Amino acid sequence: MKTPIIYRPAGAAAEYATWGCNLYRGCSHGCTYCYNKRGIFSNSLGGETPEIMAKAGGSLDKALERFKRLLDKRYGTIVRDGGIFFSFTTDPMLLDTIAGTIMCVEYALKRGVPVQILTKATWWLDRSDVMELFYDHRNLVRVGYTLTGHDEMEPCAPPNEERIQSMQYLDDCNIPVFASIEPVIDFPSSLAMIMEIAGFCKDIRIGLLSPYSAKRYDWNECDRFIGKVNELASSRNIKVYYKDSIRRFYKENAQINPTNT
Ligand code: SF4
Repeated sequence: MKTPIIYRPAGAAAEYATWGCNLYRGCSHGCTYCYNKRGIFSNSLGGETPEIMAKAGGSLDKALERFKRLLDKRYGTIVRDGGIFFSFTTDPMLLDTIAGTIMCVEYALKRGVPVQILTKATWWLDRSDVMELFYDHRNLVRVGYTLTGHDEMEPCAPPNEERIQSMQYLDDCNIPVFASIEPVIDFPSSLAMIMEIAGFCKDIRIGLLSPYSAKRYDWNECDRFIGKVNELASSRNIKVYYKDSIRRFYKENAQINPTNT
């Protein structure tokens, strides 16, 4: 059976939200680590040009119609579970995806449904209609930026520094932000990103590269990273969520690491 456009994600995605919405597949950022090109999700991404999914009806009108129907049907459960996450199969704020994203987000927000949006795109901050919508529903919306500290692995996305400036701008506009420190490419780069946003970002989520492999990381670096992040979190009142991948790596490898006595 086909997964509908509003659905319950599984695996690592479920740690972000109980409900997700995918209207498009395909993404132009070209990240070399893209989870949609690896592991069990390989071949699900589509090309570099996003296209509206067949299951969304193939057009914006049909997508909105299906979105409304599904949201209305599960309204109580979705609100109780914390709302809807956009998106796991594209960047929902690209030039090619923002139209569908915003029409569905607007419907959800106007019905009082919380919405989280994860992006690397920065251009849309000049769209006054989008900024106004988010500001007017700032108690329900949360905009996340992925930060890795590795621009070379995200060749067509705005640089990490530009994303941080966008987060700062959104925070200055009283629009809530979160940081997705995922994937961690290496712990020092991720820590540098966190230190840059610690002054204003109070919601940080951290995860390792998918699919999970303990061989990619150094346990001692992970240990120092967690120590520093926890210190920052308690001194700056930041909520940090360590995803299952990093918790697993830390726990399993602590048992075999010689410095962990
Ligand atoms: S932004 Fe996300 S969906 Fe787009 S290429 Fe990068 S990892 Fe893949």
